[in-house]
Amino acid sequence: MQSPDATATVSKGVHWTVKTNYRLRAGSFAIMFASVALHGWDKAYSPVLWSLIALHLLLYPHVMYWRANRSPQSEQAEANNLVIDSLLFGWLVATLAFPLWISFTVYIASTLNITISRGTKGMLLSQLAFASGVLVSIAAFGWRLSPATDWPVTLLCLLGNTVYMIAIGITAYSRNLQLRKTREDLRQSEQTLTHRLSDIEALQAKLQEQATRDPLTGLYNRRFLDTIVEREIARCHRDNQYMVVMMMDVDHFKRVNDTYGHPGGDEVLKMLSALLLEKARATDVPCRYGGEEFLLLLPGMTADIAMVRANQWRTGFAEKATVFGATSIQATMSVGVAVYPAHGETLQALTHCADLALYRAKEGGRNRVVMYQPDMEH
Ligand code: GH3
Ligand code: MG
Ligand code: MG
Repeated sequence: MQSPDATATVSKGVHWTVKTNYRLRAGSFAIMFASVALHGWDKAYSPVLWSLIALHLLLYPHVMYWRANRSPQSEQAEANNLVIDSLLFGWLVATLAFPLWISFTVYIASTLNITISRGTKGMLLSQLAFASGVLVSIAAFGWRLSPATDWPVTLLCLLGNTVYMIAIGITAYSRNLQLRKTREDLRQSEQTLTHRLSDIEALQAKLQEQATRDPLTGLYNRRFLDTIVEREIARCHRDNQYMVVMMMDVDHFKRVNDTYGHPGGDEVLKMLSALLLEKARATDVPCRYGGEEFLLLLPGMTADIAMVRANQWRTGFAEKATVFGATSIQATMSVGVAVYPAHGETLQALTHCADLALYRAKEGGRNRVVMYQPDMEH
């Protein structure tokens, strides 16, 4: 008789069931030996039978422990031990002519144990093993039936059963505690992992953001523009839409730097960027293209609206002073506009056209918006 089995392994090497079952098997088999001895002392058991009973109930538990302990697959070895238990108990009770309480005790205990560990299949296996043991005994010694047991034997069997059931309950309880603790540990590890994962994701998002944004202005950088422009052009092509490319350049920015210093110039660039973002649609892609040059990719925008929007940005910038310390800086910008697909079908062609238009705007006196015209090529 042994403890309930389970599938978990406590430590590397020998499975936990081996040790637990060993303790219970050695203890409960000893009680059974006492019961059988009490039952058989006045019966004419041969010395060979007494020896076999002693071997089975006193030596066998240690042999099975030794066997499972040595096995590289101790859990499987112990599961096999349970089947052998049933087989030998079948043999024992048939050989003793089925003393009722002894038979019931060993039958129910071995069936219960294997059922706990292996379910219905195990229960059926146990029946089969038990019946095989019975048949082997009948084949060897013939069929005998003498179920009566004296009350001391009955009491001892009841004691054995009680101790066994309690032992099974305690083992199941401590196993349950261990499982609960393992589950809690697992939950905590999972939580830690989830936190780490969200940290990593946040870091990844930050890195991604840093990789696509210009640190001074917060606008997209050229790298980002390069990664999305083909997709945007393809979408406009598919949806039969226009797309506008605007090139903006701060007028006489060198002077701003010369007058207010580089930090003053930086503030102007930041103010312009904030203005661009403030008035941008969700689909607009404002980029810092170079030092004081900005490129705006505006999918789904017509030439007419582009002129209106560019002028709004231009006047907005010209009218808004940049606060820099105690002073304020006033600046203007020029804008060149090119439209997809009329002026070009690639970013390169469109920026070339927008650049030419920007050049004309500078030439024309700055602080203005110029739309690309094909005759500008000459
Ligand atoms: P124009 O009207 O013809 O555009 O004149 P400009 O002075 O703006 O022309 P240019 O392109 O020659 O000058 C641009 C200046 O912008 C030169 C460079 O020192 C400055 N610059 C480039 N990047 C930055 C930056 O990040 N911060 C600041 N403060 N200045 C920058
Ligand atoms: Mg420039
Ligand atoms: Mg400039």
